Amino acid sequence: MSVYMADTHMHSRRSPDGVYTLAEMAEAAVGAGLDEICLTDHVDMRPWRAYVPPEHYPWDNLVEEVREARERWGDRITICLGAEMGETVTDLPRAEVYWRERPGLDFVIGSLHVMGERFDHLDFTHIDQVADRYDEVIEDYLANQLRHIAWGNFSVMGHLTLPMRYANERFHMGVTFEKHMDGVERVLRALVEKGIGLECNTNRGHDPLPGAEILQLYRQLGGEIVTLGSDAHRPEHVGLGIREGQALLRQCGFRYFCTFREMKPVFHPL
Ligand SMILES: [Zn+2]
Ligand SMILES: [Zn+2]
Repeated sequence: MSVYMADTHMHSRRSPDGVYTLAEMAEAAVGAGLDEICLTDHVDMRPWRAYVPPEHYPWDNLVEEVREARERWGDRITICLGAEMGETVTDLPRAEVYWRERPGLDFVIGSLHVMGERFDHLDFTHIDQVADRYDEVIEDYLANQLRHIAWGNFSVMGHLTLPMRYANERFHMGVTFEKHMDGVERVLRALVEKGIGLECNTNRGHDPLPGAEILQLYRQLGGEIVTLGSDAHRPEHVGLGIREGQALLRQCGFRYFCTFREMKPVFHPL
């Protein structure tokens, strides 16, 4: 039996850092042999690039993006509507408004792309600027993830080890989460207690975020809900690392991975 192929983390032109239509991403997904994709455009609480968080998030744009993609590719692939809600803990009142006004979503990734207040919410893309305070940055980040889970209106925690993407891939700092595994464990326990899943972000084919050690720990703590997503912002990245991610989950002892429909997990055998 072939394993169901789903990529549940990708961005379209509706994200501040995206330029492609979801229909273009869906076409790539069909070409890559995927069975399902989910649009998870950024719904952020903080300004970045040309984006300034509006009073009311334009959810209709995302619904329209999915509608157009389904019209063109819906007979070839399952297309779900999701969102990547970012930096909720930096503006909880706004997060509440956005959440209250959401359309019928299938899936929500909860993500933190910025540091805590102590670091003036510096974006992790600039982690080189605080390289000498790396351990403090990570400790603070994990504490913020606990606040994020306390808010908790999301299906899975996105790319838990995101700081690595920039620290190592971009700035070659050669750092790990090794010294912070107690903090990681607190985060994973909180996720399991709340029934929130963990994303294994296949990072467009680079190192998965998080990797084996943290995935195994989540499982040991009773976690069962893991999704796989490439975080593609371009058609050529759709589906990258998904098959390898499935193999990684099998190695870590998981027998299922998840997609989401109407905010409920659907378990697919690995
Ligand atoms: Zn993200
Ligand atoms: Zn993303």
